[in-house]
Amino acid sequence: MSSAVIYTDLDGTLLDHHTYSFDAARSTIAALSERGIPVIPCTSKTRSETAKLMEALGLDGPMIVENGAAIWVPKDWGLDRPENADDDGDAWGHSFGPSRGVIRRQLAILNIEWGNRYQSLCDLSDKQVAAVTGLDLDSAARAKQRQHSETLVWLGTPADRKAFAAHVQALDMHCVQGGRFVHVLASGGKAEAVSWLHNKIRKERCDLELARSLSAGDAENDVEMLEVTDLALLVRSPVNEPPTVRRQCRLVISDAMGPAGWAEGIEALIERVEEEEGRGRLLSKRHDHNAA
Ligand SMILES: [Mg+2]
Repeated sequence: MSSAVIYTDLDGTLLDHHTYSFDAARSTIAALSERGIPVIPCTSKTRSETAKLMEALGLDGPMIVENGAAIWVPKDWGLDRPENADDDGDAWGHSFGPSRGVIRRQLAILNIEWGNRYQSLCDLSDKQVAAVTGLDLDSAARAKQRQHSETLVWLGTPADRKAFAAHVQALDMHCVQGGRFVHVLASGGKAEAVSWLHNKIRKERCDLELARSLSAGDAENDVEMLEVTDLALLVRSPVNEPPTVRRQCRLVISDAMGPAGWAEGIEALIERVEEEEGRGRLLSKRHDHNAA
């Protein structure tokens, strides 16, 4: 019986911000898999990028992509396919909002005033994306395959970015700030996607019906997710100050950065869950005894 499901950001959290390496987290990932604890990426990356990384990480379950705009679940993972889900080979997809084309058409309204302060990642060449992100050319091409959100390279000031976010909000969409880019979503978000998926998992997978939700992230776009899960891990970043997280309870802030911080923090949280479960088991035994 698994005790937890882990929802994790990738860039800067499970992957090193600069090198994208996850070596420091390898043995923790293997230990989690041995114990049947699912690790589910919850990332601003595209489906195609995430699939490639999951293969390398040895993960084969669901993924939450494009900052929570969509979820993809393998058909053999034991969750019912929602009626309106997209169907693609071995997986079904649930999206929370319209396509990227619709978002782009809405954003075009802001082009005259703001167009010189951002560039769509998808309008850049693979070479340019590789230069901005440090990815290789194939990965850069995969990063551009966005379906339900628009990713912007911000050229203006941080203050501009805030004003722009207010304009986007007035169009019934919202901006989220990732480790590198600004993402525009029409609906959904990491917190909403994690809650939706975790409820479904607890309802439909009897081996996970009591599973706690754990989340891990490093940037502003992770904060809402870190607030909604049972336990949370804030991983220190080498490039950004840790974002403000309101919760104090059941929150771990790593000492190490990136994947080393992820491994250290996840191990601490799992220990915490096991302690609580141990206590829970003792309490329920005592209860059974009293009842008998
Ligand atoms: Mg990140």
